[in-house]
Amino acid sequence: MDFHIMTLFPDMVRDGLNTSILARAAQRELISIKTYNIRDYTLDKHKKVDDYTYGGGAGMLMQAQPVYDCYAAIVAAQRTRQRIRTIYVTPQGKTFHQEMAREFASEDQLIFLCGHYEGVDERVLEEIVTDSVSIGDYVLTGGELAAMVMVDAIARLVPGVLNNQVSAETESFTDHLLEYPQYSRPEVWHDKRVPEILLSGDHAKVDAWRLEQSVARTKERRPDLYERYRKEQSGEK
Ligand code: SAM
Repeated sequence: MDFHIMTLFPDMVRDGLNTSILARAAQRELISIKTYNIRDYTLDKHKKVDDYTYGGGAGMLMQAQPVYDCYAAIVAAQRTRQRIRTIYVTPQGKTFHQEMAREFASEDQLIFLCGHYEGVDERVLEEIVTDSVSIGDYVLTGGELAAMVMVDAIARLVPGVLNNQVSAETESFTDHLLEYPQYSRPEVWHDKRVPEILLSGDHAKVDAWRLEQSVARTKERRPDLYERYRKEQSGEK
C-alpha cells in the first residue's frame, strides 16, 4: 500500500514514520511512505505558500495553487485511472477510529494533506479532498502529527505488516471491546502474581477469562463502547 503525504515539513513525517514495524514493512515493500514538500510546487518567486485570509482575521492561510499542483503531480505519477482517496487531516473532520482505519487499509493508495497556519483555502479542498478526518476535538499547530497517527494505525492493518496477525484481530476495538489485561515474565513481580488461569494451559478457560475481562474493562472504562457491544450481543438495534 502506498501512502503519499503532502506537507510543509516532510522531514518530520519521514523521521516519525521510519522506525520499528513500519520501517521494516517499508523495507519488505509491503508499504511505501512518500512525502511531498508543498513548498516545492509554489509558483511564488519567494517560495511563499501562505497569504492573508479575505475578510480579515488572525493568521495566514495555505494557498490553493501550491497544494493543487502538488496533488496533481502525485496523481499524474501514479498508474491508476481511479480517483485516489485524499484525506485532509482537520479538526473539522469525522473523528478517526479503528473501523475507519480498517476501511482505509483496503485501499491501494492514499493521499494525505497536512494543513498548517489557519488551514487551507477552501476552494482547493473542494476540488481534491474525498475525506476530512480529525484525530480528536483539539487543535494542533499542523496536520503532520495527525497524518502520522492515521498512517501508523492504517499501515499496521495491511496484511503482513504485523508479524502476528492475530494480535490485530483480538486487540482493542475489535467487536467494540477493549483488550483484556496481559502479563509477561516473571510470574511474580512486586508481590503481584500473574492470574493463575493464564498458567493453566487450558486454552478454552483462558479465552473465557479474557472475554470476561474485556467486557468488564470496557464497561468500566468506555461505557459508550460497552453499550454498542451489549446491543450487538442482544440483537437490539
Ligand atoms: N483554523 C482551523 C480550524 O479552526 O479548524 C485550525 C487550523 S490548525 C491550527 C492547522 C492545521 O493543523 C489544520 O489545517 C489541520 O491540518 C491540522 N490539525 C489541527 N488539529 C487537528 C486535529 N485535531 N486533527 C487533524 N488535523 C488537525
